[in-house]
Amino acid sequence: MIDAETAKSPAAPNERPSHADELLSWYDRHRRKLPWRALPGKRADPYAVWLSEIMLQQTTVAAVKPYYETFLALWPTVGDLATAPIEDVMKAWAGLGYYSRARNLHLCARTVVERFGGRFPHDYENLLSLPGVGAYTAAAIASIAFETRAVVVDGNVERVVARLFAIETEMPAARPEIRRLADTLTPEARPGDYAQAMMDLGATICTPRKPACALCPVNAGCRAFAAGEPERYPRKAAKAARPSRRGAAFVAMRDDGAVLVEQRPPKGLLGGMVGLPTTDWSTKAACSAYRPEQAIAAAPLDADWRPSGFAEHVFTHFALRLDVYVAKIGASRPAPAGMRWADLTAEAFPTVFRKVLEAAHEAPG
Ligand code: SF4
Repeated sequence: MIDAETAKSPAAPNERPSHADELLSWYDRHRRKLPWRALPGKRADPYAVWLSEIMLQQTTVAAVKPYYETFLALWPTVGDLATAPIEDVMKAWAGLGYYSRARNLHLCARTVVERFGGRFPHDYENLLSLPGVGAYTAAAIASIAFETRAVVVDGNVERVVARLFAIETEMPAARPEIRRLADTLTPEARPGDYAQAMMDLGATICTPRKPACALCPVNAGCRAFAAGEPERYPRKAAKAARPSRRGAAFVAMRDDGAVLVEQRPPKGLLGGMVGLPTTDWSTKAACSAYRPEQAIAAAPLDADWRPSGFAEHVFTHFALRLDVYVAKIGASRPAPAGMRWADLTAEAFPTVFRKVLEAAHEAPG
């Protein structure tokens, strides 16, 4: 059974290898091939590690891969990204979600250039001072790119540690305990490989549902496995229902195919992204004041607005339903203040507005 005090101790002759040794030897055979990951024996590029870790926050590996490749092709170094116009960065990010990450990404690139001469700092504290870099990302860069021992705890690692030690405290209250125990497991040698091994174990073997315990390299020391109920951990408090919000979106289509768009304010949800005119759905109060029968009164132009179904999108803290209204507009009509006519093929809309456009295109012509 795993013991926090001895988890890192080197194995004596005839003793079982330590948790870290078992995991690293499994990693050497089964590591995932990822575009941002250095080949075995090679040093990882801090820019690649940072870029991928920011993109992977709340986002799957499969969704991140094409964006990562696009960013690296457009801006091969942190210096290139620092000098790119923010509009271009937001456009390349469109569809990946959590748009404050893109603004912080750009700000962070500029900070690395201005404060650190274009090189990422090596130590955890300076990494943590960078915009958009939290405790997890700072630890990941320090260990993976600079081989500095740091305790790297993401969602995958939380799950593995909670199971190894069969932690009964519910999430998120268990986080400090998980971090302390993860620290006891983290070795001095090969900290970057160890961090990636834990991530890989959580992503491929110790999965949320039906973990493949029989194939797990550390099953001999796992308390949840020994108890026969790995899926019981991490313990979770009952989830509160996700609140819902409602509003209307307006798709004004000109004869030449142009659509009326607006630039969203720099701060807040979808901040800085291009959007379609809508009623206010930024707060619960605004949404409870929404009346479908009055929606057209809030339209950006006087026109023959026709209902065209609705679009639904789930954000982290609420689910949104937007009733979609479509109107045909003459080519000579000027755009209202703060809006412009745009060629749809040249714009990068966040997913919620792509869903609105899909509903609009299903409207009877
Ligand atoms: Fe996870 Fe099962 Fe391995 Fe325990 S034995 S760490 S529950 S995969």
